[in-house]
Amino acid sequence: MPSPIHKTILRSPRVALTFTAVVLLVLAPIIAVVIYQRQSVASEKINYSQLYSIAENTSTALVTIEGDVLTVRAKDGSLLQATVTSEIARQGVVELFRKSKVPIEFQALRPGLLTTAFSWSIPILTFALVGFIGWRAYSSMSGRDGSFKCTDTSNKQNVTFAEVAGVDEAKAELGETIEFLRNPPRFGRLGGRAPRGILLAGLPGTGKTLLARAAANEAAVPFLSVSGASFQEKFAGVGAARVRRLFAKARKISPCIVFIDEIDALGRRRGRSSDSASADQDQTLNQLLIEMDGFDQSSSIVVIASTNRPDILDQALTRPGRFDRRITVNLADARGREAILRVHARGLHLEPELDLQWIARGTPGFSGAELANLMNEAAITAIRDDSEAIGRKHIEAARDRILMGAEREGFRMDEDERHATAVHEAGHVAVGLAAKHGDPIHKVSILPRGGALGVTQSLPDRDRLMKKCEYLEDQIATLLGGRAAEQILLSTMTAGASNDIERAVEIARRMVSEFGMSPLGPIHLGASDIPHSQTLLDRIEDATAAIITEQLKRACDVVRTEEKAIARLVSLLLERDTVDSAEILECFAKHDVPRAA
Ligand code: ADP
Ligand code: ZN
Repeated sequence: MPSPIHKTILRSPRVALTFTAVVLLVLAPIIAVVIYQRQSVASEKINYSQLYSIAENTSTALVTIEGDVLTVRAKDGSLLQATVTSEIARQGVVELFRKSKVPIEFQALRPGLLTTAFSWSIPILTFALVGFIGWRAYSSMSGRDGSFKCTDTSNKQNVTFAEVAGVDEAKAELGETIEFLRNPPRFGRLGGRAPRGILLAGLPGTGKTLLARAAANEAAVPFLSVSGASFQEKFAGVGAARVRRLFAKARKISPCIVFIDEIDALGRRRGRSSDSASADQDQTLNQLLIEMDGFDQSSSIVVIASTNRPDILDQALTRPGRFDRRITVNLADARGREAILRVHARGLHLEPELDLQWIARGTPGFSGAELANLMNEAAITAIRDDSEAIGRKHIEAARDRILMGAEREGFRMDEDERHATAVHEAGHVAVGLAAKHGDPIHKVSILPRGGALGVTQSLPDRDRLMKKCEYLEDQIATLLGGRAAEQILLSTMTAGASNDIERAVEIARRMVSEFGMSPLGPIHLGASDIPHSQTLLDRIEDATAAIITEQLKRACDVVRTEEKAIARLVSLLLERDTVDSAEILECFAKHDVPRAA
C-alpha cells in the first residue's frame, strides 16, 4: 500500500489532467457551432417565382451561387436567398441575371456544421494530446509518475523467520544485519561495519523475497520493495531519477530495508553497447552506486537485492561497501522441503496417514513457490472431490498438474493422432527405461494437457546435486526417444517432437560450451558479452550436433530392440490413456532394478 504522501503526489496532476480533458471536449463543439453561425449571415428566404421576378428587374447588385443556393444582394444591401435544386431552373435564372448585366459569383460549397466542428476539433485535440505527452514525459523524468511503484509494506503481512523454511544458512547469514537494524548506534560504537548491501542469489521461487521481508519484520523496520525492471523506461534519465527518489524515501524512513527484486534488470555489466537504451541503463546503475557509496555510518539503510543471474552483474556492484555480501539461496533438500510443506500445510485438513515426508521425497527439484502451489492445488482438488481432507490422491493429481499441465477437457484427438501420440510417448518410455543413469519413468499419458498431446513424466529418485555426463546423455536420448519411435515404427516425423528436440539440443549445447564435455575440451562460453571467434562458434555447433546424432542413433537402437514391448504399451495407452510405472514395467517385462548413480 503506498503511503499517503506518495498518493497525493500522484493524484494531483492526474485530476488536473482529467479536468482539462473534459473542458476541452465540451468546449470544442461549442466553439465550432459559434464559428459556423458567424459565417452564415442573416438572409431572407424566398421561393423560385420571387427569385425569377427579381431577376427580371435590375435592382440586384450581385448574385452568388453556392451549390444549389442562390443569394441575391440588392442594391440597398439586403440579402435574399433561394434554394433551386433543378439544374435547368437554375440555368434559367442565371441567364436572366446575365442579360440584366448583374455580376455573378460562384462560391465553393461551405462545409456543413458537422464538418466545421470536426475541422476545429482536430487541431484542439492535437494540441491537447501534445500537451498530455509532454506532461507525461516531464513527470516521468522527474521520477514522479504512477508507473513506478516502490511499496512500503511495513505494516502488512508480517512474515516471520519461522515461516521461511528450509533455508537455514541464509537465515543465519542475515542475523547480523538484523542486529544492526535493531540497534544501529550500538554497531557504530563498537566500530563494526555491518553489511549494507546483500545480494540474494538463487533460482526463482526459492524464497528470496520472503527472506528479505521476514528480515525487515524481525528487525521491526519498514520494508521498501521495488522491482529492478521498473527502472527501465523509454525516457532517458528516468531510471536514475527513480533511484534518487527511492533512496530519498528510504533516508526519510530509516532504519529500513530496501529490497530490489531482480536487480539483473538494471545491474548488467556496463558499457556493453553504445545504443541509447544501454547508455541509460548504465546511468541508472551509476546512480545506484552513488547512492550506496553515500551511506555513512549514521544512515541505517540496508539494501537487499535478489537475482538468479549473479554472473551477469556489473563487477562494480559487488565491490566493498556495495553488495559485498552474497548469500546463495539454494533449492531445499528433502528435509527442507518437508519443513516448507509444513509451513504451507498449516490451516489445511490433511488425512492422518498423509505424510509430509512422503510428499517431500516425491518432489525433488521443487522450489518453495512450487511446493506452496502444490499444497494449494491439492486443497482445491480435495474441495472439488468433496473430500473431508487432503489425501495422497489429491497430492498426486496436484503434482501431475504442476509437472504436466492441466488436462484439456473436451479435446478429442482422432484415432490416428492418438495412435501416433501413443507411439511417440512409448518411444520416450522405452529409451528412458533402457537408460541406466536417467530419472525413472513415473507415468505416461496421451491425454492432452497444456500445450502437449501426450506426456511422459520422469521423476528424479533423489536430489541430484551433481549431474554426470552419462546422466545428461541419457536425458538427451530419452528426449529423442519420441522422434526415434516415429521414424522407425511410423516411418514419419511429427512436429510434436519440436519441443523435445529443442530441449535436447539445449542440453547438448551446454555440455559442449559450459561443462567441457566434448572433444573440444574444457571451454566455457558463459554469459559474457565478449565476442567469440566464428570458428569457435562453428566448432561448438558441430560438437553439439555430434552429440545429438549419437544419442538419436542410440534411441533408435533401443526402439528397434524394444519394438514388441512398445507395441504392448501403445495398446495399453490407447485403452486407458494413462499408464503408471508398475504397468509400464510389466509391458517391458522388467523389474525395478536398482539404478547406477
Ligand atoms: P523468490 O523471491 O525467490 O522468487 P518468493 O520469496 O517470492 O521467491 O517466493 C514465492 C512464494 O513461495 C512465497 O510467497 C512462499 O509462499 C513460497 N516460498 C518460497 N520459498 C519458501 C520457503 N523457503 N519457505 C516457505 N515458503 C516459501
Ligand atoms: Zn515427446
